[in-house]
Amino acid sequence: MNWADFKRDANLIGGEWVGADGGGTIDVTNPATGEVIGTVPNAGTDETRRAIAAAEKAFETFSRTTADERAKLLRRLHAAIMDNQRALAELLTIEQGKPLAESMGEVGASAAYVLWFSEEARRVYGDVIPSPWGERRILVTKQAVGVVAAITPWNFPSSMAARKIGPALATGCTSVMKPATQTPYSGLAWGVLCEQAGYPKGVVNILTGSASAIGGEMTSNPTVRKITFTGSTPIGKMLIKQAADTVKRVSMELGGNAPFLVFDDADLDKAVEGAIASKYRNSGQTCVCANRFYAQAGIYDAFVEKLAAASAKLKVGPGLEEGVVQGPLIDDKAVAKTASFVADALAKGGRLVTGGKRHDLGGQFFEPTVIADATSEMNFAREEIFGPVAPVFRFETEEEAVRLANDTEFGLACYFYTRDLARAFRVSENLRYGQVGINAGVITTEVAPFGGVKESGIGREGSKYGIEEYLDVKYVCVGGL
Ligand code: NAP
Repeated sequence: MNWADFKRDANLIGGEWVGADGGGTIDVTNPATGEVIGTVPNAGTDETRRAIAAAEKAFETFSRTTADERAKLLRRLHAAIMDNQRALAELLTIEQGKPLAESMGEVGASAAYVLWFSEEARRVYGDVIPSPWGERRILVTKQAVGVVAAITPWNFPSSMAARKIGPALATGCTSVMKPATQTPYSGLAWGVLCEQAGYPKGVVNILTGSASAIGGEMTSNPTVRKITFTGSTPIGKMLIKQAADTVKRVSMELGGNAPFLVFDDADLDKAVEGAIASKYRNSGQTCVCANRFYAQAGIYDAFVEKLAAASAKLKVGPGLEEGVVQGPLIDDKAVAKTASFVADALAKGGRLVTGGKRHDLGGQFFEPTVIADATSEMNFAREEIFGPVAPVFRFETEEEAVRLANDTEFGLACYFYTRDLARAFRVSENLRYGQVGINAGVITTEVAPFGGVKESGIGREGSKYGIEEYLDVKYVCVGGL
């Protein structure tokens, strides 16, 4: 199949591809060209209610399938993704903007999550607990939580769906998913893939449209037993509050403000390599992107110089163009926000070392930017940049670096470079983050737990921990033996 075969202009509800009730649609644009590439349904409360009802009906039978059956279906889904990796990657780049190589990587990661969960499906073990009563036995089993509602962001429209749909399908949950409005096609493509893999109608339902109406129904409908969300912290907080009335389980993958520390004893070239990978993936639009670089005084100048030289070499352009490693930002608002971080820093004494403005290509392209002499008064010290700007702060001592790194309400990912083993353990233990990269700038993999502490979220995705989020523990006491 080619990418256009996956570009569905309809929603999937109970196995049927349908439009919104009133026929309303939303335009989807290519951020590299500004061109409208299609429209998707503008669905709301009623469509969401029907999708939840379809998921509830499908749950009756799907939750009773064996782990082996679910593992086999997931392996078919994995094959469907990998057979169409290129087409899915092109669709992703066309609606999201990231370079094709990154889209290929993301789709590959989606398949890897699905394969991982196909394996985990068969390892959902319970317990037999030694009983305090001679004539009773204590069993613990795990069961699918029920209908899951999933909301995904635009920056990883394929792999964020994989992290949610994968474990749901592994445990026997059914789901209703809402992809981000700016990148709906990579989400809707999961409907096509699930059909190809042979999933029964209603097991996966996908809706596009009004976020508040769909999210409102998802969070208030008592049939939905779990909300899994990836996106910004303010929306996550709101969804937690909305879900409280019906006491749903929640998994929240929210914002980050990742520090990246470079100590005097670091391998500087490796640190720069890691910094480039961490900062500029998806043009800086990832929740685990290095947001604040802290370099120790002894290597500060050298680090800034090498980082700027490497940043200036990054080829900017449309994601489908050969050799491009920096695509456009998602929209004009993102460009304006990125520019405002630069203006704020320069007004407060920051030193522009490279980049700093919209790219000559125009549109939504922005130059990879390095700002030296960053201080804690600058806005990017506290806020997520979500753009290709690398501010470099200076520090003197390890204690100061750790204090600055932890001085945020976020706690998703952090990174540091050192060759001192004792420091590696000490700093890692003192950083209040869910994920720590030591001498590594990109650490996400399906086998490791992804997630944050503090206001970066609740719960973990991927790994053996991720599946637990989709399971209820049931205690069974067998008496009268
Ligand atoms: P966002 O504005 O929070 O949107 C995320 C999703 O929430 C979209 O599908 C959006 O729908 C939906 N949404 C918006 N308002 C809603 C409402 N009232 N009720 C229900 N759903 C609603 O975030 P974003 O700008 O797309 O994504 C960037 C943020 O996500 C960053 O903060 C980033 O750090 C975070 N992120 C976190 C992780 C992680 O794993 N921790 C991963 C990736 C991104 P519409 O598109 O229709 O508005």
